[in-house]
Amino acid sequence: MSEKKLFAIFGNPVSHSRSPLMHNCVFKNLNYPASYIRVHLEDGTKLRETFLSLGLSGANITVPHKEEAYKACDEIRGFANSVGVVNTIVNENGKLIGYNTDADGFMFSIKEFGDIKTALILGAGGTAKALASRFVQDNIDVTVLNRSASRLDSFKKTVSTCSTWDKYETKKYDLVVNTTSAGLKDDDLPAPQEIINDILDNTSFVADAIYGKLTPFLQLAKDKNITFKDGADMLLGQGVLANELFTCKKLKVKDIKEHMSYSFNI
Ligand code: NDP
Repeated sequence: MSEKKLFAIFGNPVSHSRSPLMHNCVFKNLNYPASYIRVHLEDGTKLRETFLSLGLSGANITVPHKEEAYKACDEIRGFANSVGVVNTIVNENGKLIGYNTDADGFMFSIKEFGDIKTALILGAGGTAKALASRFVQDNIDVTVLNRSASRLDSFKKTVSTCSTWDKYETKKYDLVVNTTSAGLKDDDLPAPQEIINDILDNTSFVADAIYGKLTPFLQLAKDKNITFKDGADMLLGQGVLANELFTCKKLKVKDIKEHMSYSFNI
């Protein structure tokens, strides 16, 4: 019988994380010999030694340690190289291999929207950076709209248009994504109401990175009968891809998705 593997999520805070439930649901129901725990980590520079001392086979990393996780790895593969941010680590014969499944998870979550050619990203933080970079890779024409100008600087070389609210100009988009934290703990819209109304009247699909609630932004999209989704599928998408890496592709993606989706109803 194969040895039982141990996986973990590192974060601060981490008590709210759904990842243990999501991954354990897959392991248990597909009889994969592994379990998944939460590790509250104050100091991100201790990530590597904590990972090794726990004898982990892999881990996910959440706020605020994703950049430290990038530094903790021996090798970075795929998209994580483009953004310098790691959310998944796999222990490959003692070497820590870093991946980023957040942006691919998002792409996985919007597959049902079909072919997206133009996208507007609301916000210019870490999530916006990962999504913008991933969209550009897929030849999607990207506009970034943010409250403050300073954070837009790092986007100017990669995306076609960057704008603050006062410079916003009406344009048609296939997809609009809210990556701001507006609506997470408040009832704010990601931009002034007249801009949001204009944006929603000119888009085909809407997505929000926030999950577990209908944000005021999504409520407006719903009122306007626009097809929308919250961040739960993004969370699911990154989790499915991480689990596929953890289980060395021994489980079928379809099965991982089925059991991980089920964990959202528990
Ligand atoms: P960051 O802190 O890096 O960026 C936050 C962005 O939100 C900034 O652009 C900021 O603008 C903007 N913002 C904050 N408050 C407001 C407001 N009231 N009105 C307008 N803009 C505002 O955050 P992250 O990119 O790490 O995370 C963003 C969101 O995405 C969070 O809600 C997080 O929970 C969610 N998320 C979801 C994931 C999932 O799997 N579903 C994965 C990762 C993140 P400014 O520059 O002007 O300050």
